[in-house]
Amino acid sequence: MNVLVINCGSSSIKYKFFAMPEGKVLASGSVEKVGESESKSKQKSAAGEIVIEEPISDHSAGLAVIRRMLTDPEKGAIRDVSEIDACGHRVVHGAERYSDSVLIDEGVLEGIRACNDLAPLHNPPNLTGIRAAMELSPGLPQVACFDTAFHQTLPEKAFLYALPHEIYEKYRVRRYGFHGTSHRYVAKQAAEMLGVAPEKADLITCHLGNGCSMAAIKGGHSVDTSMGLTPLEGLVMGTRSGDIDPAIIFYLARKGFSVDDLDAMMNRKSGVLGLSEISNDIRTLCEQADGGNKKADLALDIFAYRVKKYIGSYLAVLNGCHAVVLTGGIGENSTAMRERILSGLDQIGLQFDAEKNQAMVGCGGAISKESSPIKILVVPTDEEVAIARDTYKLVSKEA
Ligand code: AMP
Repeated sequence: MNVLVINCGSSSIKYKFFAMPEGKVLASGSVEKVGESESKSKQKSAAGEIVIEEPISDHSAGLAVIRRMLTDPEKGAIRDVSEIDACGHRVVHGAERYSDSVLIDEGVLEGIRACNDLAPLHNPPNLTGIRAAMELSPGLPQVACFDTAFHQTLPEKAFLYALPHEIYEKYRVRRYGFHGTSHRYVAKQAAEMLGVAPEKADLITCHLGNGCSMAAIKGGHSVDTSMGLTPLEGLVMGTRSGDIDPAIIFYLARKGFSVDDLDAMMNRKSGVLGLSEISNDIRTLCEQADGGNKKADLALDIFAYRVKKYIGSYLAVLNGCHAVVLTGGIGENSTAMRERILSGLDQIGLQFDAEKNQAMVGCGGAISKESSPIKILVVPTDEEVAIARDTYKLVSKEA
């Protein structure tokens, strides 16, 4: 079965095309700057690379270009669109409706639409992508895979904010959590690496990329996570503040900042970018810090300190665990950031191995000492293959 996995953003479409159940990547690519005059589409497959520079008016036109690239007679991956057997879509918010991936029908489309106001920047383009894929090949099974689904196992004590209960009842304001597909995928991989049954694995997973979140996983289920109603809460990120005293917002509002100013500030101008006044990119900041830049060094320290605090709190939540797992662009590649986060935790069971850490870049394995009571693992994430697997499972069950 050939599965096309689509991640549709407001102005871009990323995709990967898999042969399942092997999980072999037949092609991958993207369409950038949808709706602009300088759109650029590219694809890589075993047959070669394609680059198309032509205006792409909307997501339907974007998917038509993806079909053209996939079926390109010279450099495509298939001869005809009929060789696509199913589509899997990344959907950011499934609120309390979806605790697993689902086959899409009209009811599901309505369900996703109902979550729009919780993720106004993400769910509408996700829906547009699904609609466009349905138009492209009517009757093709489509599956939605939600970023929030894995965290639907959080107990009330972890997901409720201490606000008047009616705020939850009326507006469904609660912790939802995100990056669920990544946390679920790396937890399963880590359990395999540890030789522990996935349903018995107790883990702290850290997805550290441009967006950052952590999850406490007990017996394979997410029991707490750092992102909340939106992906703003929790860790310090590239441009997002993560946790702050909520009263800072009232204080600044009274100083004249509008809601939109504060939203933009906390989502796009804060995090390590705001602290360093240099960059949101951890690699750049590491270079600057090595060159003696104090602000870059402090931003990196604040980032690492927050992760450390969450590790400590999740160790208490889980009453110990098998492993701390690192993933995402930073978790998988930044030896310097891993060292800042994980050194000095030996008294609470994490014995970091600096030599193994240096060698572990772009691959998976342990970076803790043999004797470490709690292992530290680097596990490259692969959200697309996780979506392809869910799609394969649901569609083959239906067939
Ligand atoms: P992601 O959103 O998962 O693609 O992660 C992006 C983040 O990963 C950025 O902050 C990058 O600086 C960081 N990153 C990617 N590769 C490296 C690397 N080789 N060394 C350090 N940081 C990296």
